[in-house]
Order: sequence, then structure tokens, then C-alpha cells
Amino acid sequence: MSDSDDLQYTPNRIFLLDHAGNLSPNDFEPIDTHVVAFSASGSRAELMDRRRIVLGSIFVAVAGLVIGWMGWKQGRQSGVLFAIHGPSMAPTLLGEHRIAACDVCGFDWPIAISGHDAPVACFHCGGQAKVASGAHVASVVVVRPHETESAALSTFTALRSGDVVAIGGEDMLRIKRIAAVPGDIVELNGSDLLVNGEPIPQSFRPEAKLSIPVSFMVFEMDSRRAVSRWKSGGWQRSSQRTWKSVGREWLVYHHRSIHQRNQSSCIWDDYPYNVGLSRKLQPASRLVLSGKAVCQDRASLEAVFWVDGRVVGVTYEVAGECEFNISSDDATVAEVASMASDTPVAIRVREGNVQLSCLQIARQVEYRLRPHDDHSRYPIELGSDEYFVLGDNVPASLDSRDFGVIPAREIKGRVGLVGSP
Ligand SMILES: [Zn+2]
Repeated sequence: MSDSDDLQYTPNRIFLLDHAGNLSPNDFEPIDTHVVAFSASGSRAELMDRRRIVLGSIFVAVAGLVIGWMGWKQGRQSGVLFAIHGPSMAPTLLGEHRIAACDVCGFDWPIAISGHDAPVACFHCGGQAKVASGAHVASVVVVRPHETESAALSTFTALRSGDVVAIGGEDMLRIKRIAAVPGDIVELNGSDLLVNGEPIPQSFRPEAKLSIPVSFMVFEMDSRRAVSRWKSGGWQRSSQRTWKSVGREWLVYHHRSIHQRNQSSCIWDDYPYNVGLSRKLQPASRLVLSGKAVCQDRASLEAVFWVDGRVVGVTYEVAGECEFNISSDDATVAEVASMASDTPVAIRVREGNVQLSCLQIARQVEYRLRPHDDHSRYPIELGSDEYFVLGDNVPASLDSRDFGVIPAREIKGRVGLVGSP
């Protein structure tokens, strides 16, 4: 994609709150019991809200931020609650943030507090979004430390790729996701990070695979049909706000980029959260189509994706009333002439009669090196007690791409969202 080379966000400033030098003293204090109760419920409500726009493992995961050491020492036995600080694990867990909203599209989404008042563009239509003035509380996590050396060892044994852990030393803790464990080989394919030859999320458990929404099937809503990016002459809308295929025509998604004056475009690896971050965008190459299907008995859907310059397809069987989640990772090479970079997703009914609703496209988070990262380190073969950790906010996180692998002794405990099962 040569046209990606010069594409950048509007330059403002890099927003990296998890650099040690940028922290205020308050960043090192755990929230006290009274505040925890309030913040935890607020956090859960926000996270419930965000389920509308953030697909994936909202309740399991974790944030990359800086958390306190003082309270950590005082409450080691049962785990310590911390409020998230900083954006480095967004969109999974957030520090204090604001909410942007687009009246046209009806979406709202969290954005980083960047310290400037530059306009925020709707990630869907490119129009100017409203930004609420009040800050929303940070997510709250519990960090469960290792109580004894032997317990630590057994926990380390169990650590797997995709787990979220607190790391650090005496002066601060950070929260990151384990991307590679002892014995793994971390290498590069261009700027893409691979572990044992596979893209990094491949080794994660399903709940640790993170997706960022690209668009919605907004023509479910009468007032918003004009901004729909899904187009087909062969689909009809029912009175129940579901869509039914007449024949076997493709329903095609047409992408537009707010970074290219909302003109036709491929899907970029955009992070709507990172307001004010200047970086080079890359075409997304791992897409997911999800939605709801209703059929009388059984039916067959076919989804196709345009990724990495080629078309891949998946056949998906549905029965009765069900939700579907189709990933381009599971697709094989397909022949669909109408696909292109700016029409990267399409779906049709192959057999049976199916009604669809709630179609959403997301892109999986892709783990890449940034231009300023040290490319010469790779490949890295992890030693018997070494881990490679990353933040979920790939463009902004300070992690093993910067500071290298970490020894097992720096992993202080596991992290879970308060209220998660
Ligand atoms: Zn909009």
C-alpha cells in the first residue's frame, strides 16, 4: 500500500503517560478503600457502555499504566486495587478519559485526555464530534501479588501468552500483556512482530485477542441510513429492522477514512482513542465481521475479506437464531471480483434464507514495531526466565519493544479487572 506512506494523524503531540519521567506523585498511590468502591462501580458501568464499540475481552483484561508500590507492599496478601493511569493498554483498560460523541452516527467512544482542545473527528463519518467536558474515572484493576517464592514460581510456570501482569521494580509497577514466554522466538516480518513464526495474537486465548471497531451497519436505524457504508441492490430491510437477502447477492462494505477527507480508503490501523497522537498508519490486515443471524433451520453464509492485497473467504454455517463472528484469519483464498482495498468486507447467503442484523466490522489489534523501536534486536530467543510484554495500545505503549525482554522476577503479579469473573 504505497499510498499509506505519507498518511499520518494531524501532528500534535505524542501522548505517552507511562513514561516514568512524566508521572506525578499521585500516580504511585493506590486508591483507598472508600474511593475504590466508588471508582469500581463507575468503571464497570463505563466498561459496560464501551461494549457497544469495543469488541473482545472487556472483562478479562487489563491496562498498561503505572500503579503504586506503596499500597502494594501494604496489601500483598489479597491483592491490591489500583486505578489505571495512562493510555498504554487502551482500549482494554483506560486511565481517566473523556467521551467523544457524534450526533450524526449516534456513536460515542472514549478518547485520551491530551491536554489540548483540538477538534475530534468522528472515526466513522469524519464530522466533528462533541467532547464532554467532564473526565470519566479510570478503570480499576486488582493486582494479585505472589505471596511466597514458591507461589511465585508456580504462577510463573502457569503464565501464558495473552496473560496480563503487573511488572516493575521498587519505584513503580506497569501493567502489560505477555506476548511471548520462555523458549519462544520473537522475530520480525517487515515491521510485524511474530512469535514462533505466527502473528502475536495467534497464541493468545480467544478472550485476550483484542479488536477495535471499524464500523457498524448503521442502516438498521432509519435516520442514519444515509451514512451507511453497506451497499447492495439485493438486500431488503424488514419491519423488524433486520436485513434479508433477495437471491445470492453480496452485501458490500465501503470504507472511508477520516484521515483522507472521508474519501474511499482501505481500513487503517487507527486507534480512535489516541487523540493527538502523530504516527504513520498501516493498512489493517486482520478483520472480523460479526452480527446476528436468524434462519428457520439451517443456512450457510459466505464472508469475504480483502486483506494484504488479496481476497480470502470463509463459509459459515448458522442455525436458528445465533450470533456469528467471522475472522479473516480463518479465511482461505477466494475468487470474488468485486473486492478491493476500499470494499474490504462482503457477505452473502449461500444456502437457505437468513436475516441479518447488527453487522459490525472490527480490526484485530496488530502488533508492530514503530519507527523509533530498535529493529536490530530481532530475532530474540527468550531465555528460560524471560518474557516479552506489550501494551494493548500498540502505537503508544512503552513495553518490550522499548526496554527489551524482562526477567521473571520483574513480574509481580497477575492483573484482573475489578468485577470480572
Ligand atoms: Zn459520525
